[in-house]
Amino acid sequence: MTKKFLIAGGGIGGLAAALALRRAGFAATVFERAPAFGEVGAGMSLWPNATRVLESWGVLDAVLQKGKPVTQFNLHRWDGRLISVIAMTGFQTPALCIHRADLHRALRDRLNPSSLETNQTLESFASGDSGVRARFVGGREMEADGLIGADGIKSIIRSQLHGAEEPTYRGYCIWRGIAPESAGMAGGHISETWGRGRRFGILPMGQGRICWYATRNGPPSQADAPEGRKAEVLALFRDWHKPIAGLIAATDPGDIMKSNAHDRNPLGQWGDGPVTLLGDAAHPLTPNIGQGACMAIEDAACLAKMLRRGAGVATAFRAYEAARGPRTAFIARRARRIGAIGQWENPWVVRGRDLATRLLLLRSPDTQLKSMYAYEA
Ligand SMILES: Cc1cc2nc3c(=O)[nH]c(=O)nc-3n(C[C@H](O)[C@H](O)[C@H](O)COP(=O)(O)OP(=O)(O)OC[C@H]3O[C@@H](n4cnc5c(N)ncnc54)[C@H](O)[C@@H]3O)c2cc1C
Repeated sequence: MTKKFLIAGGGIGGLAAALALRRAGFAATVFERAPAFGEVGAGMSLWPNATRVLESWGVLDAVLQKGKPVTQFNLHRWDGRLISVIAMTGFQTPALCIHRADLHRALRDRLNPSSLETNQTLESFASGDSGVRARFVGGREMEADGLIGADGIKSIIRSQLHGAEEPTYRGYCIWRGIAPESAGMAGGHISETWGRGRRFGILPMGQGRICWYATRNGPPSQADAPEGRKAEVLALFRDWHKPIAGLIAATDPGDIMKSNAHDRNPLGQWGDGPVTLLGDAAHPLTPNIGQGACMAIEDAACLAKMLRRGAGVATAFRAYEAARGPRTAFIARRARRIGAIGQWENPWVVRGRDLATRLLLLRSPDTQLKSMYAYEA
């Protein structure tokens, strides 16, 4: 009989899991707590390790139609001087930038609408040898062979398995905005600019739009400045190189989101019996190397592969966790370290950082990237 899986959470991770399981011949239903799948989010980068998986699922062409391939990454100092240039070509599949909503829709379009339920908040679960029973807010209960917690950084399933614990704040906030392409660089170049305790990134993402992000050191959950979010970011980056101030100025204030940089330390075993975790529920990353959603996509591919081996759900889930644990812990460490270095403030340390980064990337750009991008999920 076809094995049935419940997936809690309809973000990129939940949809990727549903698609991977369906392609592997399993039945999977996604339960999303939001009343609808909306057009929310900002731009994001997808790197060759994830686009390779999307290609194998037959989704890459649809994603490329909406997004923009990346051919080069430029790292600048705040005054515009180049620290380093990294070619993003020569990979089997391209790196690209895309609006999160467009990626979400491309995945959703591949799924049967009857396998996607909104307005369903998973509340708790009970598991045993024969499977799992999930309970939803409102009292509904569902049984299945396995449960996949893809319910994000504040996962209920993770809390039930490992105890409730707040994610760790890493010392800086992040603003993200979307500006028209006319306000800045187009082409296939993306960039990040390093200052002291602040960074600014630019991601042209197709459809005439550029996504930007900005960071600043400080305590968590700071309220917006009285003059408003946009004026605050503009004041912080007014003197930085072009087109930074222009991009902020051209952004609709309603399109500027603010969040805090959080992650969690790696778990030993993610799940238990017929229950496992996927994406941010298992391993939230600070967003410094743009790999959070990429990791969720890799997770989904690996999960389907382990289940296809036919050794039973709990065995497959443990094999999946054993395969994904080291990879995601490595990426999380790297994201955290790059974020911490990028946020350094001391002027002498920052000078040394910029020089050392330049030399390191001149000497071994391939080694730095291949360990992340050449991975086969
Ligand atoms: C500023 C920033 C920039 C980023 N940039 C990039 C990037 O460039 N590239 C990249 O790869 N990644 C990036 N990421 C990371 C990426 O966004 C996440 O890693 C990815 O979206 C995680 O997907 P997910 O499906 O695991 O979790 P989520 O996207 O959080 O989805 C979880 C879903 O579960 C639902 N849910 C929660 N609780 C329940 C419940 N109890 N029952 C039912 N549903 C529930 C939520 O409503 C949500 O829809 C960035 C993150 C941030 C914060």
